[in-house]
Amino acid sequence: MRLIILGPPGAGKGTQAARLAERLGVPQLSTGDMLRAAVTKGSPVGLAARDLIARGELVGDDIVVNCVLGRIAEPGAASGFILDGFPRTLGQARAFDQALEKAHLGLDAVLELKVVESVLLDRIIYRAREAKAAGLPVRADDNPEALKVRLEAYRTQTQPLADYYRTAGLLRTVNGLRPVDEVTSSLFAELRLQPRTADLGSLG
Ligand code: AMP
Repeated sequence: MRLIILGPPGAGKGTQAARLAERLGVPQLSTGDMLRAAVTKGSPVGLAARDLIARGELVGDDIVVNCVLGRIAEPGAASGFILDGFPRTLGQARAFDQALEKAHLGLDAVLELKVVESVLLDRIIYRAREAKAAGLPVRADDNPEALKVRLEAYRTQTQPLADYYRTAGLLRTVNGLRPVDEVTSSLFAELRLQPRTADLGSLG
């Protein structure tokens, strides 16, 4: 299956994408992870992206589109993928559609996690605190200032993608405010997959 997961920062895209990827046996492709890895490596992409990410701004379309097209051309993605954090602009969505069409491929669904904005700051602060407690690095953009910019970018540049994919008949919207396992079950139901206990988080 070829899927996109759409939602604001802190909506739970990463967690849900990981569960779907595991169940479907396809890679979870997170542009945020790809860009952070590039920053750590100090590659040209990383150098171009570092300050933008820290401020919460979007990285240029050409950079992310190239990263994604490179990854989906790899053998691991031959049977599908779940894109987490891409596309984030109409320009990215259109470029991606064109590339898929050229490769005679299509998307199966775009899953939107709907979450009211007021809970997102709490979730991001919680995520930063959990990472710190676990001795993991805290993301440079998990702070109130960058979150404000990230939310604005989502509202103005990414939210219009819901209409774009609704028009294409691909959008499936799920309430992302419920407990994590319930959200997973709803997403599986949208894809006509039966959730198994191992697909949920209760077993760790
Ligand atoms: P994420 O981990 O998805 O929250 O992404 C973290 C940051 O990486 C974003 O705030 C952007 O600065 C950058 N980023 C990730 N994906 C994209 C994308 N598709 N387009 C532009 N910038 C992106």
